[in-house]
Amino acid sequence: MVRVQGLYCMRKVHNALFCCGSRPELIKISPVYHQLKTTAEIIPLLCNTGQHRDLLTPHLETLGMTPDFQLDVMHKGQSLEQLMAQLFEQLPSVFEKTHPDIVIIQGDTASALASAIIAHKEDLPLAHIEAGLRTHDRTSPFPEEIYRQNISTLAKWHFCPTEQARQNLLSENIKSENIFVTGNTSVDMVIETYKKSKGNLYYNPSHRQDMTRPFFLITLHRRESQGSPLMRITTSLLEFAKANEKFDFIFPLHPNPASSQMIKSQLGAQKNIFLISPLPYPQFVRLMADAYAIITDSGGIQEEAPSLNTPVIVVRNRTERSEGIKSGCLRLAGTEMDTILSELNLLIDDKAHYKRMQQAPNPFGDGRATERITAHLIDIVEKSHAETHSFT
Ligand code: UDP
Repeated sequence: MVRVQGLYCMRKVHNALFCCGSRPELIKISPVYHQLKTTAEIIPLLCNTGQHRDLLTPHLETLGMTPDFQLDVMHKGQSLEQLMAQLFEQLPSVFEKTHPDIVIIQGDTASALASAIIAHKEDLPLAHIEAGLRTHDRTSPFPEEIYRQNISTLAKWHFCPTEQARQNLLSENIKSENIFVTGNTSVDMVIETYKKSKGNLYYNPSHRQDMTRPFFLITLHRRESQGSPLMRITTSLLEFAKANEKFDFIFPLHPNPASSQMIKSQLGAQKNIFLISPLPYPQFVRLMADAYAIITDSGGIQEEAPSLNTPVIVVRNRTERSEGIKSGCLRLAGTEMDTILSELNLLIDDKAHYKRMQQAPNPFGDGRATERITAHLIDIVEKSHAETHSFT
């Protein structure tokens, strides 16, 4: 029994429905999901929409998560509109079966936006993890920027990684009492995973003979980079790899055929470039930690690498993680060959610059986002229960 506004009432266990569909969403909700499992107040339920089924499924086991609901929204060659239609077709029955007390989403995917719209329609409180990131450019990242902006209009509770993200939401007239600055759970994950991986050897592609050679780690997958920006990025990488044979380049490929085919045909023959399959998260964390530097257009990697003291060159025109640029751990290289090559050359030619990047603090969190978010979630569901059950 708990005392509520002068009355005693039965403590209720609340259902929290997590909806996700991509690898980064799963990685970033996993510590909150696990933490909630240990509480008496909230039962976490997991719906995997299947948006990135191939990429996400291997991570379920690694992260110790079993979906309560497995949807199948992704079909070959599907457009963004068709994906949205599948989500609206399949998600409502999950909401009907679970009657959640709160819906929790993370980030900026179609799965997150569709879940937000359905939660709004069902009048269910929605909590958004990693709220408030903005480029203020609707075309970059596309479609994530517009998805994120729309999710913020639908969410009731906003867990921001940084003060800058909170300011972004305040400027969009989100109520300040509904915004919490917590840090990003990606930082919690990377710190914990790295600690556990110490002493283990990192993953090495079987055809890479000499593990002692320094290497760059590369990932590329943004939709807005497909076509000529991707061609310029890969041409720069090829030129840089040819000119710097003392370095290797390890490149786990995103399965999206629109980019992976071009990458294979551009870079596949270069002997110090190793194109490999996507890696399990713990192995990828080890690679990030051991890399000389990372070249990427990923969002999550921009948040994780600074905790491993690995400099990041962001091959995008804009980033919604501008705090990392200000802190000095990230450099925005754009997608033009001259800017990319000059950033890469600076990293190997100017040791003081490299060291400054390595030592720049991580502005995205301190490793305690999970405990803050969990505490807020418990408070939120308990208060809403108390409000519903108070008789004055
Ligand atoms: N990641 C992984 N294996 C890989 C490549 C990336 O586990 O082979 C992780 C990475 O550590 C980060 C997340 O996947 O947590 C980033 O995913 P992605 O770049 O696809 O998405 P974004 O963060 O750009 O939304």
